[in-house]
Amino acid sequence: MAQSFDMVVIGSGPGGYVCAIRGAQLGLKVAVIEREHLGGICLNWGCIPTKALLRSAEVFHLMHRAKEFGLSAGNIGYDLPAVVQRSRGVAKQLASGVGHLLKKNKVTVIMGEATLTAPGKISVKTDKGAEEVTGKSIIVATGARARELPGLEPDGDLVWNYKHALNPPRMPGKLLVIGSGAIGIEFASFFNTLGADTTVVEVMDRVLPVEDAEISALAKKQFVKQGMKIMEKATVKKLDRAKGKVTAHIEIGGKTETHDFDTVISAVGIVGNVENLGLEKLGVKIDRTHVVTDEYCRTGVEGLFAIGDVAGAPWLAHKASHEGVMVAELIAGQHPHPIKPNSIPGCTYCNPQVASVGLTEEKAKAAGYDIKVGRFPFVGNGKAIALGEPEGLVKTIFDAKTGELLGAHMVGAEVTELIQGYVIGRTLETTEAELMETVFPHPTLSEMMHESVLSAYGRTIHF
Ligand SMILES: Cc1cc2nc3c(=O)[nH]c(=O)nc-3n(C[C@H](O)[C@H](O)[C@H](O)COP(=O)(O)OP(=O)(O)OC[C@H]3O[C@@H](n4cnc5c(N)ncnc54)[C@H](O)[C@@H]3O)c2cc1C
Repeated sequence: MAQSFDMVVIGSGPGGYVCAIRGAQLGLKVAVIEREHLGGICLNWGCIPTKALLRSAEVFHLMHRAKEFGLSAGNIGYDLPAVVQRSRGVAKQLASGVGHLLKKNKVTVIMGEATLTAPGKISVKTDKGAEEVTGKSIIVATGARARELPGLEPDGDLVWNYKHALNPPRMPGKLLVIGSGAIGIEFASFFNTLGADTTVVEVMDRVLPVEDAEISALAKKQFVKQGMKIMEKATVKKLDRAKGKVTAHIEIGGKTETHDFDTVISAVGIVGNVENLGLEKLGVKIDRTHVVTDEYCRTGVEGLFAIGDVAGAPWLAHKASHEGVMVAELIAGQHPHPIKPNSIPGCTYCNPQVASVGLTEEKAKAAGYDIKVGRFPFVGNGKAIALGEPEGLVKTIFDAKTGELLGAHMVGAEVTELIQGYVIGRTLETTEAELMETVFPHPTLSEMMHESVLSAYGRTIHF
């Protein structure tokens, strides 16, 4: 007989498991179906293990700077398998934590592959055979996977996707990273810091193309200073694979150049996991591998929702979780607010870090706003100097008419931790006046957030 639930979530990534826990907290009988690992991509092959790798790179980098701090460190080196082992251990610890959280909240976990067979009905292929499950509400939270472009397909040896790069068979000597979004740049930063001769190819006119142009340019300056080669408005047309060598044909400035590498990381985007779920049969609309939803993540089919990466950009764990909570509350009869796309922060954990929320200067102008722009450089901040991190910028964009904070963009040390201050500001619909009246602790990097606002209104103190 079929097991029946109020809510069934397909996929246990940060969208699915958070949705399930919130549903259970609200008194619903909830099940999660997962075909691979609890915690999804984020905990096992995404956010968490990359941050563990990047932490090793950061410590390695700082060890080389020991003398600057009056310290000495000899024989600085690394053991790549040990670095990777630490990263895998961190991922494992957090993924097993998800199992405990689901259990604590009395969520039923079914390990297997789910397919929707009719509205409210799911068939799960498990180790023991097929299981039937019914749910009054069903949430598709099946996530996404790496996009593969023809000719650039990963093989795990010479050409890697993010999974290969997280568990690499060797340290790259000469590395090509295709794509300079967050995933590409984080891997470029990691391997470059450990000593790989790294080239990044970006099809758009700048690295980190979704970021504010000024921030992208400052980040690029630092990457180049660290020895990375950056090729912008460039396309990898072809990869010729030979033993231990890949020849990349790169189109740039109307010409095709060939360059040899021993390793290529393909980071050219992701595609939603929409296949074999029975979605089309139920009449769910799919647009270029993503489920089409409304602002409440409804698919248009009664009782069927889609959240997280499978429901489209931005492909971020916190967006997935936030949607998960909203949908669970909606199902439980509450009245949650839909997520505001311009209030979702984006963070990239390369060196230097990059973080942003809201409109870029370009987009604010294109949207017709008359804007005021504030800027404060790291070099004017006491804590940044004390940390030995004088490179970076905090940029803020305000609506000149209303004082609304339209966007904030940062590059430099620890900005991924700072951005949240502005995100709260946006949620509270803060204007420049409240931000100026806020007391920021001294000495902290956060003081730059204050100064950037002051700067937009010609009141900077420390620069
Ligand atoms: C290398 C890398 C680094 C990243 N770093 C960050 C970061 O720093 N910050 C950030 O916010 N985001 C980051 N991301 C993105 C983040 O991982 C995703 O946005 C997030 O995991 C999406 O969550 P989700 O719940 O939608 O899907 P996922 O985490 O992809 O989970 C979906 C789950 O559904 C399961 N599933 C799929 N189909 C079925 C089926 N038919 N039956 C049963 N189960 C199924 C899958 O096995 C998977 O476990 C990174 C991604 C990558 C690849």
